[in-house]
Amino acid sequence: QTGANDLQTKADRLVQMSICASLARKFPKVTIIGEEELSTDEVTEELIEDGHCEEILKRTCPAQYTGIKEEELVIWVDPLDGTKEYTEGLLDHVTVLIGIAYGGKAIAGVINQPYYNYEAGADAVLGRTIWGVLGIGAFGFQLTEAPAGKHIIITTRSHSSTLVNDCISALNPDSVIRVGGAGNKVIQLIEGKASAYVFASPGCKKWDTCAPEAILHAVGGKITDIHGNSFQYNKEVKHMNSAGVLATLRNYDYYASRIPNTVKQSLVP
Ligand code: AMP
Ligand code: MG
Ligand code: MG
Repeated sequence: QTGANDLQTKADRLVQMSICASLARKFPKVTIIGEEELSTDEVTEELIEDGHCEEILKRTCPAQYTGIKEEELVIWVDPLDGTKEYTEGLLDHVTVLIGIAYGGKAIAGVINQPYYNYEAGADAVLGRTIWGVLGIGAFGFQLTEAPAGKHIIITTRSHSSTLVNDCISALNPDSVIRVGGAGNKVIQLIEGKASAYVFASPGCKKWDTCAPEAILHAVGGKITDIHGNSFQYNKEVKHMNSAGVLATLRNYDYYASRIPNTVKQSLVP
């Protein structure tokens, strides 16, 4: 545990070791930035994954990406997003996030939801993987729009503050959903459960937003900080998304135009 607001479990450490060591072995020139500060030097062989996904390799690489060199890519890894909820047994809030950035932009991402369907009975398939690439689309889920004319805000469950709540109130929501995980909240957007992800607070980091951003943008959604600035994902960038998060699948401008100036003034990018 690194702090009450910032937990780290054995699962966070093992998953990051597995993802980062496996990627580094296959793509030694790529920059990999994981949430946990761990060395992958003494990784055990059983944690190494060397398979690949036929479904993705079947697709044609968009022309703008065919010339990319390995060393130009930055991969942002959150081995376990929603750790607080994980420790409380809210397993379906948990996701594993792998985002790929090129030229500072999130261009591809994977959101794995290891406990998807965990309460759906023995016949249900446990877990799922959602992936997307800008210029190809996003797969592994059913794209659904939120109910028209309703403002359903989704936000943090365990990192609230007065500012977070004041910002939501100013949007006059029809309802507010409080769940853990940035990955989980973006899934709720693309599956039509919520109309806007609003988090007027620092706390969320680049590994929380990179993969969800690529997937959301691949289906025509939008994610920015609370001021409307897009996120940058080059390797030198500050990890913290200091000015919060605003994301939607549709009607981004409606929500962006209603963020109060007082909230914006409290959040310096
Ligand atoms: P949440 O919506 O609270 O699940 O937060 C989304 C992501 O941002 C998770 O990875 C959280 O750990 C992280 N996060 C948000 N706020 C904070 C905070 N105040 N301290 C540490 N991490 C935070
Ligand atoms: Mg996280
Ligand atoms: Mg994490």
